[in-house]
Amino acid sequence: MSRQFFVGGNWKMNPVSREEKKALVNTLNSADLDPATEVVIAPPSLYILPLKDTLKNNIQVSAQNCYEKPKGAFTGEIRRVAPQLADAGIPYVILGHSERRKEFKESDELVAGKTKAALESKLKVILCVGEDKDQREAGETAAVVNRQLQAVVNVLTPGDWSQIVIAYEPVWAIGTGIVATPEQAQEAHADIRAFLKRQVSPEVAEKTRIIYGGSVSANNCNNLATLPDVDGFLVGGASLTAQFVDIINSKR
Ligand code: PGA
Repeated sequence: MSRQFFVGGNWKMNPVSREEKKALVNTLNSADLDPATEVVIAPPSLYILPLKDTLKNNIQVSAQNCYEKPKGAFTGEIRRVAPQLADAGIPYVILGHSERRKEFKESDELVAGKTKAALESKLKVILCVGEDKDQREAGETAAVVNRQLQAVVNVLTPGDWSQIVIAYEPVWAIGTGIVATPEQAQEAHADIRAFLKRQVSPEVAEKTRIIYGGSVSANNCNNLATLPDVDGFLVGGASLTAQFVDIINSKR
């Protein structure tokens, strides 16, 4: 069966000015994008709604995080609670990014709780997992990724997985210019699919999109896009440049 190719742009806390944002949006809106690829941009919180209204070409928006509590007295919380995101018509949220796991000490269980809360609010989730350099060198890649995923498996039903895109993002590849080799990416993605088959169901394993993130660029995307278990990309730095168009079109 075929899984729809998915390309996400994670702008993180960039771009800094409204002019830069405008230029990027103009580039994306006027580009000839592969209509068969699902495209999602995750801008900083303040830009989500304006971008939602100005992006064309069927480009969707995503939040970069959400809070697990449904609502309440959390003055100043800008991560936005999941029901607010859903109510604003924002279809996706990125959860479990390694920068949040590391800088903000988000545990596997917290990420799983947020994932559950997001799904209950009818948001779709781009769920990030991945090992760091030491873990890879110690041969722990599959164990780390399985542990991160198991926490989520524990709180979801098999039916929930249709709303999840898994982003395999090795921490050592993020923002470093060191992209995983096709062999490394394919092996990790196949391991994730085998894990889903064992721990959830063969159907979920077959249908769930597993995208790769970590120093994806116009130069390396074509090789990675042909791999059988790579269903797209989550792109940081290169999503802030015109290269993003080539990455979106890498499956064409
Ligand atoms: P990068 O970031 O493409 O700049 O390596 C990817 C990510 O953090 O999602």
